[in-house]
Amino acid sequence: MKPDTSPPSPLNPPSPSSPLIDGPERTALRSAVAALAKRHGSDGGTTDELWAEAGKLGYLGVNLPEEYGGGGGGIAELSIVLEELGAAGCPLLMLVVSPAICGTVIARFGTDEQKRAWLPGLADGSRKMAFGITEPDAGSNSHRITTTARRAPGGGWLLTGRKVFISGVDISDATLIVGRTEDARTGRLKPCLFIVERGTPGFSYRHIPMELAAAEKQFEVVLDDVALPAEALVGDEDAGLLQLFAGLNPERIMTAAFALGMGRHALAKAVEYARVRQVWQEPIGAHQAVAHPLAQAHIELELARLMMAKAAHLYDAGDDAGAGEAANMAKYAAAEAAVKAVDQAVHTLGGNGLTAEYGLAKLITAARVARIAPVSREMILNFVSHQTLGLPKSY
Ligand SMILES: Cc1cc2nc3c(=O)[nH]c(=O)nc-3n(C[C@H](O)[C@H](O)[C@H](O)COP(=O)(O)OP(=O)(O)OC[C@H]3O[C@@H](n4cnc5c(N)ncnc54)[C@H](O)[C@@H]3O)c2cc1C
Repeated sequence: MKPDTSPPSPLNPPSPSSPLIDGPERTALRSAVAALAKRHGSDGGTTDELWAEAGKLGYLGVNLPEEYGGGGGGIAELSIVLEELGAAGCPLLMLVVSPAICGTVIARFGTDEQKRAWLPGLADGSRKMAFGITEPDAGSNSHRITTTARRAPGGGWLLTGRKVFISGVDISDATLIVGRTEDARTGRLKPCLFIVERGTPGFSYRHIPMELAAAEKQFEVVLDDVALPAEALVGDEDAGLLQLFAGLNPERIMTAAFALGMGRHALAKAVEYARVRQVWQEPIGAHQAVAHPLAQAHIELELARLMMAKAAHLYDAGDDAGAGEAANMAKYAAAEAAVKAVDQAVHTLGGNGLTAEYGLAKLITAARVARIAPVSREMILNFVSHQTLGLPKSY
């Protein structure tokens, strides 16, 4: 068959996925979310309206159990939602945290009471939960976190510590805090998860000004002898690490989706511009020095999406260990692809790449977030070096 050489229409960017890979339901979800995002547009303002509408339509809780108001799907579905919102220029960062990490952890390990109290609200978006693991003195080394829960004399817990860069604390009803409890037998500290509701005495937060054009803000959180009821602990005190990774793998897969959406958004703008911008006889997109890097960016985004789909598939199938490696690799690949796509997109627009009108320059810092958080590029390379390749550790 002769290849179709007719120029693609600017209104018809490359299809983000084939129904043969996504299946009919996910394809329909992708189109429906893309349509909602298109209606909303990328105005850069508050995300409240979009959050509320996406919640009403069932998109925010697609991964949560049906009996608690969710869609009964998995991280594969939720990552499609975030990717499509991002591709339209209106990502919802809190999707990474509220339904993906907190919703998953509560659905998998919470008590019936915790599930009843939180999941319906997280699913329809009427309630939000932030997630706090990063500490100023631990950073990439989560094993060094020192936020500690002691048993209170009258029952319950007393939680003390400090967290940094916690997203969306101001708009969340609670924060899921990663702390540590002491093993009564060995005295060793074990990671544990606590739901700390906003307004609990001793829980305070301070805005950290960031050079990011995003609706969601980051905060330093101080926990000063925060008295929590026994029911604030999520899951089993002795299975903290396993439970934590049940939440961290979705976080990585969702960060990949965040990066992929942003990369696609930037690339689509650049392609549209390169098709029409003419400074010699041909549109600039006819120059291979302009076209090839855009083609490369597209290929790299597509490759990263395949790895994201693999990670989501493994995670949703219950293979936490297998999903760990794939989720790390997907996050790595998607962040690198997005940083490159954004950089090339800005360059393709020349001076316009730096104007507020085209809205691309602000993505330079936004794309870097995926390279740093929730786990940096170097820590993923460390993970793959040691866990996958079996190379010795230097630290
Ligand atoms: C916009 C944004 C939102 C965030 N939201 C949240 C949130 O909601 N909740 C939350 O808990 N956290 C959040 N974070 C924090 C984020 O997860 C951390 O910034 C990240 O884990 C890195 O930690 P750090 O900043 O302390 O860097 P550090 O750990 O100090 O690392 C600094 C640099 O050193 C490198 N490095 C460190 N150790 C090694 C090593 N052994 N080998 C090689 N290189 C190394 C790192 O790769 C990095 O480049 C957010 C961060 C940002 C920027």
